[in-house]
Amino acid sequence: MKSKDVGETGLTKKDYSQLFREIIDNVGVGIHIVQDGKFAYVSPLFLELTGYTEEELLGKDPFQFIYPEDRERTRQIAVERLKTRNSEAYEYRFLKKCGEVIWVLEKISSVPYHGKRASLGSFMDITERKRQELLHQEAVKALRKSEERYRNIIEQMEDGYFEVDLRGKLTYVNEAECRNLGYSKEELIGKDYKLFADENTRKALFKLFNNIYKTGRPVKAYDMELIKKDGTRSFNEISASLIVNNKGEAIGFRGIARDVSERKLQEERIRYLATHDALTGLPNRMLFGQLLNHAIEGASRYRRKLAVFFVDLDRFKIINDLLGHEAGDELLKETARRFKAALRSMDVVGRLGGDEFVVMIEELKNEEHAAVVAQKLLDAATEPLKIMGEECKVTASIGISIYPRDGKDEQILMKHADMAMYTAKEEGKNNYRFYTEAIASPFIERMSLEKNLRYALERNEFSLHYQAKLDFKTGGIKGVEALLRWNDPVLGPVTPTRFIPIAEETGLIVPIGRWVLKTACKQNVTWQKEGLPPISMAVNLSLRQLMDENLLDDIRAALDESGMDPELLELEITESMIMYNPGRILEVLAKIKDLGVRLAIDDFGTGYSSLAQVKSLPVDILKVDRSFIRNIPSSDKDKAITNTILAMGRTLDLCVVAEGVETEEQMNYLAQHSCDMMQGFFFSKPSDPESVAELLRTHRAAKQGVAMT
Ligand code: C2E
Ligand code: MG
Ligand code: MG
Repeated sequence: MKSKDVGETGLTKKDYSQLFREIIDNVGVGIHIVQDGKFAYVSPLFLELTGYTEEELLGKDPFQFIYPEDRERTRQIAVERLKTRNSEAYEYRFLKKCGEVIWVLEKISSVPYHGKRASLGSFMDITERKRQELLHQEAVKALRKSEERYRNIIEQMEDGYFEVDLRGKLTYVNEAECRNLGYSKEELIGKDYKLFADENTRKALFKLFNNIYKTGRPVKAYDMELIKKDGTRSFNEISASLIVNNKGEAIGFRGIARDVSERKLQEERIRYLATHDALTGLPNRMLFGQLLNHAIEGASRYRRKLAVFFVDLDRFKIINDLLGHEAGDELLKETARRFKAALRSMDVVGRLGGDEFVVMIEELKNEEHAAVVAQKLLDAATEPLKIMGEECKVTASIGISIYPRDGKDEQILMKHADMAMYTAKEEGKNNYRFYTEAIASPFIERMSLEKNLRYALERNEFSLHYQAKLDFKTGGIKGVEALLRWNDPVLGPVTPTRFIPIAEETGLIVPIGRWVLKTACKQNVTWQKEGLPPISMAVNLSLRQLMDENLLDDIRAALDESGMDPELLELEITESMIMYNPGRILEVLAKIKDLGVRLAIDDFGTGYSSLAQVKSLPVDILKVDRSFIRNIPSSDKDKAITNTILAMGRTLDLCVVAEGVETEEQMNYLAQHSCDMMQGFFFSKPSDPESVAELLRTHRAAKQGVAMT
């Protein structure tokens, strides 16, 4: 049969055998034949792949060349493949002659060989592919591990974490986010973010995500109000960014959500406390001012009128004194309740402090309407009430101003309503008055000033400005003078020349002066802490303060609390103060000097001090009043006076400071006549602490620059 076959293909047995070998050598896989458990044939490529010679292999058990760990498994596979005639390839590790282990892909099939069954194996070195595969597997494993680690971190985060796709469907949320929203993971994943957002939040979130999508830029700390599963609301601070795939395409957003409800609540509380009166819960002066401003804008746009009412209780002080503070508080709370009840809900009732209330009525039809409201307020106030078992009756005085007739801005309207209220009080109380130009008398104005001054300290309306003094000898700034400033929300800025006399008369200057001392000393030390050189600080004293028995304690306290060197403090008094009660005042001045503090005579030349008198005073500095400086160099008389004071200063070894220097000629004149220092608008206007610090810095730098050139 064989020879016939040969005959058909036209090949001899020899040809056939040669062809067979050629094929085997060229197929690119190693071939081996195993018979009776031993290598019976190995192809040249097989030898090349394994590094063995024919002699080393033929007659040997093929399994002995298999990597020991794979031997048993490979044997089982081979047996199974042959039995079931399965030609599927399998892999194992083979030991090369050089000791190297290679990965092999093999197929076997059963063939006749020399008349007996044998197994024919094809053998391929797949080590390189295997290595790549392993590397890939490692990489995948590492990736999975890092992903797992990152998910772990995310799950353990205190903050909520979420991922959404571009349609806004949640694709991932961590535990904290579930807690934030009160839903389980299952309930959230796959759901739209609209699940926990109301209309406003939806819009805000859409805008936020849209913005990130368009710009590619992340958004940080954006406050959002979310609705939890139980319907309660929570504030979340959201930071979000775009998720892109490895092709750089946007596929969604990821973000962190921090529950800041607690903080929000606190902020709201603080805002509430800052804008409401603690006792009655009514808007305070600040909020009322804002609301009034807002209402004025509206009224101006729609050409409407509005009315402002100043309401002051008439007998409040008596009740407070007789029945005590608690009773007073009760009365104020009850009055607030009644005023609110007497008005429409859109009308605003505020409390300015003390027994002063304010009311604003918008969309006022006419003046009669305002009168009706005022009467309602009076009725509400006068209705008898029982406080701590006592029957009390209070009345109120009300002043009314109307926009736009009586004023176009908040301040004028308030001031005019306040003045009208004073007229109502003057005219017998328990009534109301409209503002008219006729009531704007100096007397009423002064009453209003005095009343507002009483509240200024506790309402923090004072501040200090500082004016620098230039030393002619060194060209440096040796010191500053503290000058009091008052900015009242109703009256606007009021100059010291207007309010200091009233503060003096009423005695208010004592607590105000104490505040000035403290604040000035503290400021002085603050500048030093900012690295500025120590300078002297001049503070004006008033007669009332000099006569006050606590003055020395106040000075000591201001120095102790700030830590300021007493030598840097200069207290300014005027000649007329000494004249008031020389014996007593001189005693006080001596005690002040004992503290190490320096003394200056302010506005010198306007009193009647003679050389002899000044000689007996424990002072260090003379400040020439600016009325003498004003007409230098044109007025010979003023020049003569100034020269006399300068000479007097030299004789008594006092430092002479010229006040109110406004021009270069004045400065030159003073410099030529050996004045020690000058103060005035020409060199420096009184300014706030920051500007003064800046002046001190630049002036020093400029001086150094001059010294170096
Ligand atoms: P003063 O102590 O003689 O203060 C100097 C005043 O002259 C300041 O007015 C200042 O702004 C002004 N002044 C400075 N340089 C010039 C200038 O070149 N030209 C003109 N025309 N004026 C200049 P201010 O701040 O209005 O103070 C007025 C007065 O009020 C002070 O006169 C002082 O007597 C009193 N005062 C200010 N602050 C206090 C304070 O804290 N306590 C007391 N008791 N009185 C104070
Ligand atoms: Mg002064
Ligand atoms: Mg002065």
